[in-house]
Amino acid sequence: MAVDYGIQGHVAVITGSTSGIGQALAGALAEQGVNVILNGFGDPAQIEHDRRKLQERTNASILYHGADMTKPEEITDLIDYAVREFGRLDILVNNAGIQHVAPVDEFPPEKWDALIAVILSSTFHASRAAIPIMKAQGRGRIVNIASAHGLVASAFKAPYVAAKFGVVGFTKGLGVELARTGITANAICPGYVKTPLIEKQIGDQAIARGIPEDRVMEDVILAAQPNKQFVEYGHLAGMLLYLVSDMGASATGAALSIDGGWTAT
Ligand code: NAD
Repeated sequence: MAVDYGIQGHVAVITGSTSGIGQALAGALAEQGVNVILNGFGDPAQIEHDRRKLQERTNASILYHGADMTKPEEITDLIDYAVREFGRLDILVNNAGIQHVAPVDEFPPEKWDALIAVILSSTFHASRAAIPIMKAQGRGRIVNIASAHGLVASAFKAPYVAAKFGVVGFTKGLGVELARTGITANAICPGYVKTPLIEKQIGDQAIARGIPEDRVMEDVILAAQPNKQFVEYGHLAGMLLYLVSDMGASATGAALSIDGGWTAT
């Protein structure tokens, strides 16, 4: 039986939703009748194709805004676009992310800047722009897609780990600050999900560790997760739907692990 989360007609901005986790979460919200603004890079024809398909499949209104999440003024425009088009903003999912795997002493400084900008600073800029809108509505939901790497570290990912710890810290600060406003802020901390970001990493990890790619999956990626399975999109969508519904009203400032037991070890 389909669950009704009571969010039909709500409006969501999901950053980095042209691929992977963000795209899957956009689908889950649209299936509940949430109007979604997609964002992210990619082939314009493919993005338009995916936008149209999701709209037809769900009957929600699906729009796209191409803000580069390293550019504060474009991020502000993305948030304003929700109000221009739909007159409201109920849900902000800060999901856009990139990865670069290398030892710190070989890590290109421009990659550090990009990681911090896309993952951490964009979460600040988007939240900063969304909060006044949500305060005026008396309700809002900010969900930051952090990572197990927002709670524990792995080798050759120190900048990513730093950015994700930052996202978790920022989420806690927001949760406390907004606790009496009707706005909640939480971080979802997934373990490994088989997305394009991870598929690319398998090659990078093989180079950084000097081992063949087929060993990376077993010895590095799933080695971290006691259940030895990738996290599925639906497992993340379930947490998102809980958080954005009224059932999630008391959950705020939390870092919620969905990682097959990784951070319990
Ligand atoms: P992905 O590469 O499939 O998707 C990333 C999305 O971010 C894409 O839509 C891309 O276009 C967008 N993006 C990147 N740079 C951008 C920019 N400057 N401006 C706008 N959009 C930009 O990756 P994914 O695995 O789906 O990752 C999504 C989020 O989940 C990331 O924050 C990632 O760190 C996090 N995460 C992923 C995993 C995993 O195992 N895949 C685990 C934990 C956390």
